[in-house]
Amino acid sequence: MGEATPEELDSWIDALTRSTGPGDDAARVRMLTQLERLTSAADGFKAVVTAAFSRSQRQTCRLPEKAERVERSIAVQVGMARRESPHRGARRVGLAMVLTTEMPHTLAALRTGRIDEWRATVIVRETATVSREDRGKIDARIGAEIDRLETVSVRCLEKEVRARAYEADREVFVRAREQAVKDRRVSLRPLPGGMVRLSATVPLVEGVAAYATLVRAAATAAASGDKRSRGAVMVDTLLDRVIHGVVPAGPGARCVNVPAAKAPVVPIAVNLVVSDATLLAGGDEPAQCGEFGPIPADLARELVLAADGEGLLTLRRVYANPTGIVAMESRSRCFPPGVARLIRTRDHTCRMPYCDAPVRHIDHITPVADGGATTATHGQGLCEGCNHAKQVVGWSTRVVDDRTGRHTVETITPTGRVYRSTAPPPPRCLESTG
Ligand SMILES: [Zn+2]
Repeated sequence: MGEATPEELDSWIDALTRSTGPGDDAARVRMLTQLERLTSAADGFKAVVTAAFSRSQRQTCRLPEKAERVERSIAVQVGMARRESPHRGARRVGLAMVLTTEMPHTLAALRTGRIDEWRATVIVRETATVSREDRGKIDARIGAEIDRLETVSVRCLEKEVRARAYEADREVFVRAREQAVKDRRVSLRPLPGGMVRLSATVPLVEGVAAYATLVRAAATAAASGDKRSRGAVMVDTLLDRVIHGVVPAGPGARCVNVPAAKAPVVPIAVNLVVSDATLLAGGDEPAQCGEFGPIPADLARELVLAADGEGLLTLRRVYANPTGIVAMESRSRCFPPGVARLIRTRDHTCRMPYCDAPVRHIDHITPVADGGATTATHGQGLCEGCNHAKQVVGWSTRVVDDRTGRHTVETITPTGRVYRSTAPPPPRCLESTG
């Protein structure tokens, strides 16, 4: 066959969907190997198409000051086409540009299915710090040694490429480490069961020291007959020291093994959407806790009690009625705090399809200049990146009727693709459950 056209790809998908697979195990294993190559070849082709799309979109932008927005617009479009967040979309674009311009041998290995997309990503990531020339040399060696490299594990490949990057330019490698230290951070991700993962990216020595401190606390507790699990003591120790604060032993002291002096607890605010059935009648309908998603009913009641009792949490309670969250309206051009909070509570996260970044801007779905109203219905929560992407020529959004009765926004991209985003369901309330 010749060029892979969208129509041709449709017929392949159709054939795969209808296939039942070969009749014996040797053929099944061979089929798995070929399908894996097909997946990698498709990923390599995606990189080529992504790079061509990015170049073409950039050509439409003649104003340097708008370049950043065009980059965001490209990232959102690539992300949506691949059903991924704009953040992932931006990384796909970066990978595609490096593969197609700086690493032809790695791209060829991917396109022929000898390495998969993750291995190609690792190669690009590990050579990010070296010059273009050195990267080209590392790429050529990968091409020359592909027979061996296609058989090694991802971790071996990672170590080998990292070692070559280090050989190529030790100074750059040291500077990259300094930058990594500067980029230390703490993040929070929601987990099921009313839990979150609190993680910190820290320099190696301090990370190991902090972990050893927690392990020691667990061992001490176990020796004194504490019945909590090792993990539970480590978490309790960590939270106790962070939330209640511990005064260091003296100037320059880094060890925190001193009696704890209680620091004032920092009050925080979370948006909790809870039905009156859950709150007042002991119902088991989960509540929505801001960007953290659904939490169990008993935890929601616990949070409400904690908010009233200890002042640790300031809860903004918004009750849900049978048709959704109560609407509010404003004549002002800017969204007043009440309406903005309502939109944030309704949308949870950025409304751009596949984006789950926290809401940073309340956006007029129809611009005010075109008669857009400042109401909850005509507003949506967007992250900063998506809001900037949608300012680029060719994007449009409108509110549409959805059969679920929930707030739905239709987004049309510069290439004319249409995506819909529906607000997550609010908790049911007493009337609708009873
Ligand atoms: Zn977004």
